[in-house]
Amino acid sequence: MDTKTTDVVLNEVKNIFAAHLEKQSSRKTPERFAILEEIYSRADHFDAESLYIHMKNQNYAVSRATVYNTLDLLLSCDLVVKHHFGKNLSQYEKSYGYKQHDHIICADCKKVVEFCDPRIQQIQSMMGELLNFKITHHSLNLYGICGNCQKKRELEQESDGAERKVKKKKTSS
Ligand SMILES: [Zn+2]
Ligand SMILES: [Zn+2]
Repeated sequence: MDTKTTDVVLNEVKNIFAAHLEKQSSRKTPERFAILEEIYSRADHFDAESLYIHMKNQNYAVSRATVYNTLDLLLSCDLVVKHHFGKNLSQYEKSYGYKQHDHIICADCKKVVEFCDPRIQQIQSMMGELLNFKITHHSLNLYGICGNCQKKRELEQESDGAERKVKKKKTSS
């Protein structure tokens, strides 16, 4: 699906969303579609609050409530997925026409990196077959410390050590 251009994807998601709103007898307001467009123009993970602030900064007349209920509507028609990365707030990302992937999260700076490994798909279909489950989806998050934060921690430890040495010298003299 990676070959589809953003315009094609955007048209398709707009149609899906419009059909979903009709089915739910919800109103097809321009604000809801502006939120959908914003989500599909970005490639990151975001929480509801920062999406709201971003929309406001771009001078969209959307309320916080509209952002929250639009996210719920988009979730219910599978156009966005919701993640819980550790103890952080729920984070969202677009899902339609987007590659299957998993996440690795830094416990220090909360950076989220995506990765893709076909072996995970293999485990999924193998376990489904073995245990007679029709697997619909999976969620896999790995947690750790990223390269930058590892360096930062090392530097902090070094300067801590140096400070202690200085203090020792002062007290011993
Ligand atoms: Zn980090
Ligand atoms: Zn992701």
